[in-house]
Amino acid sequence: MSNNVEDLARANVRALTPYQSARRLGGNGDVWLNANEFPLPVPFELSQQTLNRYPECQPKLVISRYAAYAGVQPEQVLVSRGADEGIELLMRAFCEPGKDAILFCPPTYGMYSVSAETIGIEYRTVPALDNWQLNLPAIADQLDGVKVVYMCSPNNPTGNLIDQDDIRQLLAMTAGKALVVADEAYIEFCPQATLAGWLQEFPHLVILRTLSKAFALAGLRCGFTLANKPVIDLLLKVIAPYPLATPVADVAAQALSEQGIALMRQHAQQLNDNRAWLCEQLPQLSVVQQVFPSETNYILARFTDSPKVFKTLWDQGIILRDQNKNPGLAGCLRISIGTREECERLIAALQALSVEQA
Ligand SMILES: *Cc1c(COP(=O)(O)O)cnc(C)c1O
Repeated sequence: MSNNVEDLARANVRALTPYQSARRLGGNGDVWLNANEFPLPVPFELSQQTLNRYPECQPKLVISRYAAYAGVQPEQVLVSRGADEGIELLMRAFCEPGKDAILFCPPTYGMYSVSAETIGIEYRTVPALDNWQLNLPAIADQLDGVKVVYMCSPNNPTGNLIDQDDIRQLLAMTAGKALVVADEAYIEFCPQATLAGWLQEFPHLVILRTLSKAFALAGLRCGFTLANKPVIDLLLKVIAPYPLATPVADVAAQALSEQGIALMRQHAQQLNDNRAWLCEQLPQLSVVQQVFPSETNYILARFTDSPKVFKTLWDQGIILRDQNKNPGLAGCLRISIGTREECERLIAALQALSVEQA
């Protein structure tokens, strides 16, 4: 008998490649444009001095403020350790390992497959069409045994919204069979596109939200699941007893105050303005082949020599996210929108490369 603990681990965990987060990939930059974070910290002060006590599982103030912000009822809101925990709770509550499957449409966010692999649930992929929209007939063909369909809109890393008529069709073909989970991590950059108003009509619709992007709180680890009460009640059965630390709930409640939301909206507007500026500048550079339209705080672009661009900028402390290995994204890098100064440094660095190439 081998004395190797590796052999004791579950087979799917031994085979697992963990999520390659921007933090894990490292780098020594001073211009971080690889994790879709807000570029500047927002200051908060802790007001709760009750760390001797366990926290509330679902802190009431956070829930009521998020419900008011999202335009839903408090009973339709679950708060968790980031939207990532919401992704996994849905699988744990709805998918039988070794029997049920989830489905998603690459290129898209990497955690759907990582969570499925970790729990031991089959995942099916139906590649997006060339315009990054849903391939509905192919999805219809693959739905057998699928319990959860994850659909990211606006999509990470492509930046586009999913067509709402297509989403209606997806909801029609999954009714009574599977949940449709709309990942709205970036919805604050295009708030008119939210599906929150559809919850009354669709009992199998679920929406994921986060404080990590426009709210500038990636380090807080706080996300939300919006759904009708029967779904929320099932998720409450499988969530940890104390998913949110007291300081997390404290800061989240402040971020969701009237002033907190107003500040977030200013920030989202600034980043949208910076994105518009980048979308004018990037196509003028000879190293840039194609710039995909974006509704988010990042831009996906295809470069003539993306490994060289990535490495050259990396060496200058400008860290981008390589998307080369993502299906359909050869030559693509994803650029998070930073401060105006960071955007200018990026363009200057790319200009230097373009001159060199010319
Ligand atoms: C960042 C991101 C998340 C994760 O959000 P957290 O709340 O930080 O866990 C979920 N989905 C998408 C598409 C994201 O880009």
